[in-house]
This record gives sequence, C-alpha cells and structure tokens, in this order.
Amino acid sequence: MRNLSILGSTGSIGKNTLEVVSRHRDKFRVAALAAGNNVELLEAQIREFQPDTVALFDKSAAERLRGKNLPVEILAGEQGITAVATLEGVDMVVSAIVGSAGLVPTYEAIKAGKDIALATKEALVMAGNIVMSEAAKRGVSIIPVDSEHSAVFQCLDGKRMEEIEKIVLTASGGAFRNRSVQELQNVTPAEALNHPNWDMGKKITIDSATLMNKGLEVIEAYWLFNAPLDKIGVILHPQSIIHSMVKFIDGSVISQMSVPDMKGPISYALSYPERFAHVLPSLDLAEVGELTFDEPDLEKYPALALTFQALNEGGTMPCVLNAANEIAVEAFLGERIPFMDIPRIVSDTMSAHEVTKGETIEEVLAASEWAKGKAGEFVKNGNEK
Ligand code: MG
Repeated sequence: MRNLSILGSTGSIGKNTLEVVSRHRDKFRVAALAAGNNVELLEAQIREFQPDTVALFDKSAAERLRGKNLPVEILAGEQGITAVATLEGVDMVVSAIVGSAGLVPTYEAIKAGKDIALATKEALVMAGNIVMSEAAKRGVSIIPVDSEHSAVFQCLDGKRMEEIEKIVLTASGGAFRNRSVQELQNVTPAEALNHPNWDMGKKITIDSATLMNKGLEVIEAYWLFNAPLDKIGVILHPQSIIHSMVKFIDGSVISQMSVPDMKGPISYALSYPERFAHVLPSLDLAEVGELTFDEPDLEKYPALALTFQALNEGGTMPCVLNAANEIAVEAFLGERIPFMDIPRIVSDTMSAHEVTKGETIEEVLAASEWAKGKAGEFVKNGNEK
C-alpha cells in the first residue's frame, strides 16, 4: 500500500489522479489532500477518500470547511499546504498545484524525502537546478506527470545521453493553430480556452495557445532529463497522439502514443515501473487515420523563442519568464490585454531583468515576485497608451 499526498486535488490533474486511485484502492491510500479554495469539491473528496489531513490555501475557505465538522485534520495557508507535502508516513507526493505557488511545497516534499509525481512544471522552470540537486542528494525519484515528459521518460527508459540525438516534444498548437498572426490580435479568452484535444485548467490552456506551455516544457525537460539545450526540440503535431519522441544517433526514433487523456501519464507515474491494465481505451490507429507534423512558426509563437533565450541566459531568467507569463495570462483572461501582448509583456520583463545565479529558493522567489510586479506595470502601462 502506497500512501499518497495530493497537492492541487481539486484541479484537473488532482481530479484525474483521484479517479486513477479510485480504480486501485488496493494499491493506494490517500493520506492527505491540499487545494486552493474549492471547499465543496474538497469536502466531497474527503467523504470519498477519507484522508487524515487536508489543507486549503485560502484561510477563510479552511474556516468554512472546519464548520462542516468532518473527521479530518484541516490546515490552512502556505504552511498548511507544506505540512500536507511533508506529512509523515506519505510515500509519494503528487505535485499538481498550478503555477509558481507549487514550488515551495514541492521543494519541501523533496527535502522530506518524498518521491514526487510531478505535474507542477513551474518547480523545475523556476528552480530546476536547486530542485534536481536536492532530489539527487535525498535519493528522491521525480516521475513526470506532464504527458510529454512521461512520453520521453518511457522512450528513454534508462538510455544514455550519448546515444540520444534529440528529445522532440510534440505540441498540438493549441486553439489557434489554424489562425494567422494577424488574426491572433483580436482573439478572446473564450476562444483561447477552447482547446481542441486536451481538457485542462485555464492557465495551461492559454499557455497552449501561445505555445508558452511548450516553452516551459522545454525548460522542464532540460532539468528532468539533464539534456543539453541543443538536444531538445519541438514539433507541431495537431492530433496529440504522439506525446513526444526521442531520436537516437543511429537514426532510430522511439515515440510514445495513446489517446490524449491525462489519466495515462498519471497512472504511469503512480504505477512505475509497472503498468496498470486498461487505463485508456486501446489506440486505434486506423481510426485516427493520419498523423501530421509541422515546424512551429516562431513569429506566431514568440513564447517558444523566449524560453530558449531564457534558458540560454540561465540563472533567474527562466523564473522571471514564468512569473511574467502568469501575470500576462491573468491579464488576458481578465480582458485587460490583447492575446499577443502576453509574449510582449514576458519579453519586456525579461529585458528589464538583471540575471543572478538563482542558487537558493529565496533568491528564486524574490526574482519571481520582482517579475510579477514588473509585468504588472507593463500590463498597466499598455492599457494607458
Ligand atoms: Mg504537457
């Protein structure tokens, strides 16, 4: 029996994780859950999975949950989330808090020696060096939940970096893959949230439309697989059947395919090195019919070039890119900036940043806060024009 702690249990990944767990009650026990402010859903999850401890980031939401007199310890705030991440007796932490808020609890879980099923890519984008070296030091496994990285993880299967020519991450192209750069100027949040293949949270769906999500995944792959930047590439693949691939030096390519459903990579992270049966419907390639590929257009998707630039500059720059993007996406969702201002604000914030090495979590968090403030100014200034 493996004891799980799930950070972000009311989000898209969290809900899918609990669905996987509910199919394998003999293998997993939910020891703890953490969420943001969704009292109603967390209450339902407590009743169904009977964890010992839960935490809500929002303190007034935690108060409301306490009022329901459930047989569970209820914690609150950032400290509460961290307590859930480091709870004694927990074997694996599913890290699925959206955005930069996921960094500290994930890092604390690693320090506490918990294996990590990692969906919160921001932990590696912001502090890849710190997180990976801490994991190595503690002998902690970080198993990717992100579908692309799960694919690469499955394709690599212990192979040596010298044998690898390139890790190729696939990208669907998001909601606007058939629109021109001109047409992108006036798209609405509702249009951007209409992802063709994947059912995901709002932030990541917008990031898919700008391809920023793919850029963040490049950074994630860089740290997770210890791969040099020139060995990581991106290709557009609108059908989202090939979840990523690895090219080897002998000309062979190994890819991982399935119908697009996050229960696939979540199950694999939980069952690794084994596989559960019947996680997804069997892939019928004849029915899919056609798999197509294209080079990403960097004019249409400037976010992708920005992420390569951020990794090249190193230190705190990837963290700044991520923080600026969070603010810009929020502003776009609030209809305060047009779509193509998202990469512009990220770029302007990066230009204004003086890179430091980013060797401690405190330094990284300070850079993140700085970038959020700066990006916020660019959002405002843009509106005053
Ligand atoms: Mg992904």
